[in-house]
Amino acid sequence: MKGAALSAALFGGIEGGGTKFVCAVGTADGQILSETRFPTTSPGETLGRVISFFEEQMRRHGPLQAIGIASFGPLDPRPDSVNFGRILSTPKVGWTGADIVGPIRAAFGLPVSFDTDVNGAALGEWRWGAAQGLDTFIYLTIGTGIGGGGMLAGKLLHGLLHPEMGHIPLPHDRARDPFAGNCPFHGDCFEGLACGPAIEKRWNTKAENLPPDHPAWELEADYISLALWSLACALAPQRIILGGGVMQQPGLMPLIRQKTRAHLNGYLQSPAILENIETYIVPPGLGSRAGVLGAIVLAQQTLA
Ligand code: ADP
Ligand code: ZN
Repeated sequence: MKGAALSAALFGGIEGGGTKFVCAVGTADGQILSETRFPTTSPGETLGRVISFFEEQMRRHGPLQAIGIASFGPLDPRPDSVNFGRILSTPKVGWTGADIVGPIRAAFGLPVSFDTDVNGAALGEWRWGAAQGLDTFIYLTIGTGIGGGGMLAGKLLHGLLHPEMGHIPLPHDRARDPFAGNCPFHGDCFEGLACGPAIEKRWNTKAENLPPDHPAWELEADYISLALWSLACALAPQRIILGGGVMQQPGLMPLIRQKTRAHLNGYLQSPAILENIETYIVPPGLGSRAGVLGAIVLAQQTLA
């Protein structure tokens, strides 16, 4: 599709989160015609609401060309796999093995693309946000869980399944931080030590209630910057985007920048890090809309 036909074409985007789903209808250039959000309940009920939303929108606006889904994981993004389109083993009750793509395809008979929530957000940032013009970067979310996606040489990061940047090990000084970590698989991996619920469990209060001068934030910045040290060395990203609820804590971003640069200690000899760390580690340009906008770009890619 080209020119006028493409600019009139409509796409569906679904950001499937562990706590809420966001669905939108938009154009190829990212104009959103309508959007809705609702809590994530059972797979049947949640996908039923997704399908009703798009049915109603198609009655109002006309047909969609394709639907993109950026979902919480772990999931199987390999189109040739028997598990394609499904959620894999998750602590989220009722969702292990849930088929996300099947019911959407069956309802509409449209091309459907399926990727992780963080690859979706990365794609949205690449098209319209903080990663424009880059071909190798990371999008990391620090929220209920920790996950990372991004691009390597212009392609969304995939592999055996997809990266699990939240589950890398970190040095854990148990004398300073006796909290054992809350990852059901690894205990004190990055997510186990630094996700929002880990902060809450360690300090017995919700992360958003901890004041800016609380020692929680110095510790949090230490864990995140240790992870960024690993990721910057392993993947050579041109930029690192940090999203998710925990990053809403004012003061965390400058601490992370300072500590990451200190860990790297001049070794990665790029002005991006040595002189411009403020534009190397950044918040999402699209804010909390990166995911759903990215899902719309995912949808467009089915036609490429
Ligand atoms: P999800 O990961 O489910 O998509 P979020 O990215 O919004 O959701 O992350 C939710 C987590 O962020 C919760 O653990 C919450 O305690 C934490 N959080 C929300 N607001 C803040 C804040 N202002 N400061 C620190 N943590 C916050
Ligand atoms: Zn883990």
